[in-house]
Amino acid sequence: MEKDEIALTKKMVNRGAEAFYCLTCLAARFCVEEDALRRKIREFREMGCTLFR
Ligand SMILES: [Zn+2]
Repeated sequence: MEKDEIALTKKMVNRGAEAFYCLTCLAARFCVEEDALRRKIREFREMGCTLFR
């Protein structure tokens, strides 16, 4: 999951981010559920987003 967390941080926070957040922190930061983030990761991957490989 770690690679996905890095990719999701880049996607949601800042593409050049150097500090990365785990799903729990991202969920808290954006006030969403971790499951929603997991779904997002799947969606981005299915869309072929290059960050999620
Ligand atoms: Zn965290």
